[in-house]
Amino acid sequence: ETKEALLEVNNIEVIYNHVILVLKGVSLQVPKGGITALLGGNGAGKTTTLKAISNLLHSERGEVTKGSVSYRGKQVQDLNPAELVKQGVIQVMEGRHCFEHLTVEENLMTGAYTRRDGKGAVAADLEMVYNYFPRLKDRRKSQAGYTSGGEQQMCAIGRALMSRPETILLDEPSMGLAPQLVEQIFEIVKSVNEGEGVTFLLAEQNTNVALRFAHYGYILESGRVVMDGPAAELRENPDVKEFYLGVS
Ligand code: ATP
Repeated sequence: ETKEALLEVNNIEVIYNHVILVLKGVSLQVPKGGITALLGGNGAGKTTTLKAISNLLHSERGEVTKGSVSYRGKQVQDLNPAELVKQGVIQVMEGRHCFEHLTVEENLMTGAYTRRDGKGAVAADLEMVYNYFPRLKDRRKSQAGYTSGGEQQMCAIGRALMSRPETILLDEPSMGLAPQLVEQIFEIVKSVNEGEGVTFLLAEQNTNVALRFAHYGYILESGRVVMDGPAAELRENPDVKEFYLGVS
């Protein structure tokens, strides 16, 4: 009775620079319509896993040397990031990556550049994004480089939404943000998930917040999944509490 996975990662191995084995056989299943969290400390391999899925490893001299990635049952590991966007999968990279010299609204519009469904639909989606991120509407005319870290993170997620994705791969949304903002961003992710049915796979070091908002979690350590389960169960697991939640 397990829901069929929309995105499936099967036993992938990733090597950097031909010698550094970083992922040692990682498997994940991301069900449609869910929020799945990829957890683990610094260097555990979360970013590498997301980049392996969206084929962004080449520029880092990394390659998938074993295993496969499939989306809606089709192998996708040979698609480039743009082709993957057409399949409905988009990655929001760590560190936000807004175009600093464009305004917030121009940044959002760049997310829609491959769409062919007309200006009306794009305009409607811009309103949809502003609905989820009222803060971006206030700042729409500001140059992105002059907005706060939280606003840039919102802008990056909003831009991804403008491509009308089915799935968003979100890398470390909490990075560098004050706790209150982290909470806000996760609240918005949750409402986008519920309101638009967007599937999320998010990499996050902040286990506490991720497990409160995700439905399911995978914990990575040194390139291996060491534990996985429904978020509510992981939150109650004594090892997770001790090693990842800082309580015992
Ligand atoms: P972080 O939260 O710091 O991004 P992470 O769990 O996402 O951590 P990765 O960034 O995937 O971890 O890194 C996993 C391991 O791979 C680390 O040991 C890192 O040093 C190594 N690594 C990452 N990128 C490269 C690269 N381009 N070349 C060589 N090694 C790399």
